Amino acid sequence: MGSPLFQQFCILRKAHVNKLKKALVIVDVQPTFCEGGSLPVDGGNKVAKQIATFVSDDESYDCIITTQDWHIDPGTHFSDEPNYQDTWPPHGVAGTDEADLHPELLNISEKINYSVKKGMHKAAYSGFEGSDGEESLKQILTKESIASIDIVGLAFDHCVKATAIDSAQAGFKTRVLSKLTAAVSPANTNVVSDEMRSHGIEVIK
Ligand SMILES: [Zn+2]
Repeated sequence: MGSPLFQQFCILRKAHVNKLKKALVIVDVQPTFCEGGSLPVDGGNKVAKQIATFVSDDESYDCIITTQDWHIDPGTHFSDEPNYQDTWPPHGVAGTDEADLHPELLNISEKINYSVKKGMHKAAYSGFEGSDGEESLKQILTKESIASIDIVGLAFDHCVKATAIDSAQAGFKTRVLSKLTAAVSPANTNVVSDEMRSHGIEVIK
């Protein structure tokens, strides 16, 4: 039983443990995927600006993490004759200006807690294939006691989808904020949304 004070301590401690910690994962918002870049997605620059505004107005996330495609030699991921399914024109080349975070995100850089890079030597659509140089995305989320993840960024039908599916499969409550994304193939948005929902992901319009 313990003293009333001890019981109160236990209740408070339980309430603290039960607080659902939330992370925002900003996927691949890099100039390379925006208008003017090597593999542009229509609406990329607009999404970058909207995400920056969303983040600067928001105080609800416990942790904000960016991912970047950061290719050194990704093998057949790059092609001179890309099919835009699993081969692509060179993009996100490590160390180039295009592979940096989008300039709009510089306005919120003080709110970004971790920057994860992926795809150095192979294709990597999911942020869960990346690390910040020391820890994988999953290790970061676990260390930060994150239970719930919102995902935004580029592109909805490729790296956002892959990151969301890995997030759900890793046991995180996962939402995609689709207004803060842009797709390579906007015509497939419903099909891709249904695919994500089949993994238990909430796709918010
Ligand atoms: Zn890539």
